Amino acid sequence: MAEPILKVSDINVYYGSIHAIKGVSFEVYEGEVVTLIGANGAGKSTTLNTISGLLHPSSGGISFFGEDLLRVPPHKIVERGLAQVPEGRRIFLHMTVKENLEMGAYTREARGASGVGEDIEKVYGLFPRLKERKRQQAGTLSGGEQQMLAMGRALMSRPKLLMLDEPSMGLAPILVEQIFDIIGDLHRGGATILLVEQNARMALSVASRGYVLETGKVVTTGTGEELLASPAIKKAYLGG
Ligand code: ATP
Repeated sequence: MAEPILKVSDINVYYGSIHAIKGVSFEVYEGEVVTLIGANGAGKSTTLNTISGLLHPSSGGISFFGEDLLRVPPHKIVERGLAQVPEGRRIFLHMTVKENLEMGAYTREARGASGVGEDIEKVYGLFPRLKERKRQQAGTLSGGEQQMLAMGRALMSRPKLLMLDEPSMGLAPILVEQIFDIIGDLHRGGATILLVEQNARMALSVASRGYVLETGKVVTTGTGEELLASPAIKKAYLGG
């Protein structure tokens, strides 16, 4: 089998004396959608924020395309092709939709890459709602539209790995379905995605593979289908 593009090896992360991540290891291969599921506080966001360089593990390793990511500052990690859509979206509320998308291309413009206009059109193709609202201030968008904008903005960096932190959070069921449909479209288009979700059923239904986190540890792993069919997972995470 090919080498994984992301390899997380036995990381430990503390917040002061709180041991939030206890020896977590997992891999993501090119073209996969991998999901990390688990209850509130299991350590999913902490894991993503450690990969994107916002937090530092006290031990363990993280490599991306075979290169060590530890001690690489977050903006350099983005330049290497790893884009994160954070929990709570964090879009630029006072800019228009189009300006937010242009900001997403900033790191590749710094590298001299062109094609920003074309990529904005691609994002509008994925999210027609954003096209309709391209001149609207982002702060006036609905929660679902803001999630679409945050995903579109991350795609503008042409990431090799897209990390999504709880994209379904706070959204009405119909919008949750739309967001997961788009994740499925991105997957079929060849994107590699690391997806953190509390909505285990939706996440596992789009995932190639999943890892279950409990109190800072990986307790189970398998394909999306295997985990969806597992009685223990059904009982603990899928409502019986
Ligand atoms: P959620 O879905 O609620 O965000 P999660 O699985 O993403 O849950 P984390 O946010 O990664 O979980 O939290 C893991 C553990 O670390 C929890 O026990 C949490 O209370 C703790 N924690 C998270 N952030 C901090 C912080 N800034 N300071 C102290 N402890 C924290």
